[in-house]
Amino acid sequence: MFTSTVTGYPRIGGDRELKKAVEGYWAGRLDADSLRRTARGLRAEVWTTLRDAGLDAVPSGTFSLYDQVLDAAVAVDAVPPRFAALGLSPLDTYFAMARGTAEIAPLELTKWFDTNYHYLVPELGPDTVFTARPEKAVDEYREALALGVDTRPVLLGPVTFLLLAKPAADTPDRFGTLELLDSLVDCYAGLLSALAEAGAGWVQLDEPAFTADRTEAELRALDRAYRRLAAVPGRPKLLVTGSYGELGPALDVLLATPVDGLGVDLVSGPADAARLTRHAPVAPLIVAGVVDGRNVWRTDLAAADDLLATVRAAAGRVAVGTSCSLLHVPVDLGAEPDLDPALRGRLAFARQKVDEVVTLAAGLRDGAVAPSRAARPQPPAGWHDPTVRARLAALRYGNGRAPYADRARAQAAALALPVLPTTTIGSFPQTREVRAARADLVAARIDDATYRERMRAEIASVVRLQEKLGLDVLVHGEPERNDMVQYFAEQLDGFAATARGWVQSYGSRCVRPPILYGDVTRPEPMTVEWTSYAQSLTDLPVKGMLTGPVTILAWSFVRTDQPLADTAAQVALALRDEVADLEAAGTAIIQVDEPALRELLPPRRRDHPGYLDWAVAAFRLATGGAAPATAIHTHLCYSEFGEVIDAIADLDADVTSIEASRSQMEVLADLAAAGYARGVGPGVYDIHSPRVPEVGEMVAALRAAVRAVPAERVWANPDCGLKARGYAEVEPALAALVAAARTVRAEHAG
Ligand code: GLN
Ligand code: ZN
Repeated sequence: MFTSTVTGYPRIGGDRELKKAVEGYWAGRLDADSLRRTARGLRAEVWTTLRDAGLDAVPSGTFSLYDQVLDAAVAVDAVPPRFAALGLSPLDTYFAMARGTAEIAPLELTKWFDTNYHYLVPELGPDTVFTARPEKAVDEYREALALGVDTRPVLLGPVTFLLLAKPAADTPDRFGTLELLDSLVDCYAGLLSALAEAGAGWVQLDEPAFTADRTEAELRALDRAYRRLAAVPGRPKLLVTGSYGELGPALDVLLATPVDGLGVDLVSGPADAARLTRHAPVAPLIVAGVVDGRNVWRTDLAAADDLLATVRAAAGRVAVGTSCSLLHVPVDLGAEPDLDPALRGRLAFARQKVDEVVTLAAGLRDGAVAPSRAARPQPPAGWHDPTVRARLAALRYGNGRAPYADRARAQAAALALPVLPTTTIGSFPQTREVRAARADLVAARIDDATYRERMRAEIASVVRLQEKLGLDVLVHGEPERNDMVQYFAEQLDGFAATARGWVQSYGSRCVRPPILYGDVTRPEPMTVEWTSYAQSLTDLPVKGMLTGPVTILAWSFVRTDQPLADTAAQVALALRDEVADLEAAGTAIIQVDEPALRELLPPRRRDHPGYLDWAVAAFRLATGGAAPATAIHTHLCYSEFGEVIDAIADLDADVTSIEASRSQMEVLADLAAAGYARGVGPGVYDIHSPRVPEVGEMVAALRAAVRAVPAERVWANPDCGLKARGYAEVEPALAALVAAARTVRAEHAG
């Protein structure tokens, strides 16, 4: 029995030590032993920190050199043959699966539930043979034990593993990954036995896939898996967790199995507390996730205490925990001495959240949290701006724009573009010089004027290049943007930036999400200077570039004292003013990127309409003030629209660019079927790969596009921004894009 724990903890280190070590190893600057030493040091620091903070149960195995789903694939030996055939060391095979090699593609990277973390998708087929590889789990358990910390090894649960995996490319159509359930569960039985043999008393199996809607068959698989695992002779006690939402029906299923503990996310899924009440008396230990693992605000201890009392009334044994792994929050508020004290006093990063768990657990033992510890400071009056609220109240939601047909006519007259106009998604390569200029500015090695001079020089060269290549609609290239959200957050009031608030996004990539704490206002125009400068250099139209309200919310830590819809509307209002200023400066096309529209979709379908309502309303509020002759474009970074396909039409943009190069334009048919009948820019080449595509491939893609959609509505563009690429790839690729568009344009004219 234990009373306090966390589901997981950041593994990157307070100073991104893991990133530096892993990238050093990839670059050959660091050998494998040095990498292992750094990793061991980071693990030791986490275990001793958690123990010394007073947790009576500390997880292990939550460390990863790249990704926990990749770790799970390796733990069951689900290494696709193309990687095994490389004959590399286990460490290099692991990194090959994560990053690919010059010849072979890595595993696919995709979003982890509705977070901004990305995992690697395991590839499985009917012939996949699972073999237990407990070495990582056992070694880390022993490593902690040697430090005097008897930990609870954590593994991704077998059913979630299968639900996150995908059929390997060459498998028959009828194959579903759940067919492998029994053999995978047998393999997990081997992992559990090995951990029991090493001395582990508890093992945690994470099943976050069950906080989304699941079919009866999937729920049956969950039942079957845990009945079988519970029957493993001599096994450790099993803690099964759900995170990122409400377990709902899966909670009923799990409560009927003989597992020893259940972790519930009572922050995202508070209804699970009531569901537990219906099952009272509940036999297993309930780890009540009342401390939010996804946001940075201090826990309202009194409210958490009330929730714990509800769980306590239903279950005999209750422990305090986090709603999910603390992976999604920065490591330590102690690293942020310069934050405004009023804000700092309201924040808790991973390290502080551990203290909250310990405090709540003490309260659980003693009766209740002492009121003095529960008090939360009031937000300062300066965080609220009555004028924003008044403006929003006065503006009607929805779109004041003219009907699309009228807009299309006005835009055609204003722009006089050829059929199949060519353009890009916005960013051009962020060269070493561009990044150095930004670093120099931050370190005060250059002044603002010098920085601006360098950015202008970069913009001028990007404009010249696009003219030389023959693109029809130009961009300024976004050299001044460190990140598509941070750039705006830094210029808006109501947001704060951290100095070292890094969070892992995937592998060695870390992001520093801004904190949206108050009412949002725009003190001055944010992008007009750069766009206007670019426009002053050319007669061709230059597209203005903004990040949309949903994406700004998705990649920030947001306030929780008002509905997300209200926060989104405030951000949208600031963007609406920016759109107006761009327009006034003569910008004829304005693109508002919403790559995160799908990512924020709630896990349960019943919550989709509510989300899509405010998401679409925010986009329309941001763009709805534009004149009919101003073209509003949007960009989405994916092509599997699924549940958001209707929302794409509702955004009412004049042109939508999407990722389509990998799906052979099938998405255009899907879009048309959903009633989307406006401009569309299907990505005709994949910018995620360094490969320079042939003109012929892009001609084929564009021909497929004009078969699916009338040519008058098709744009030719890459499938995403070019910032991570080099000019050596971008130049020939865009030259080929222009040539392909001209070829298909000529066919169309003929
Ligand atoms: N305009 C942005 C760029 O080109 C869009 C990036 C994105 O979609 N993630 O970089
Ligand atoms: Zn994109």
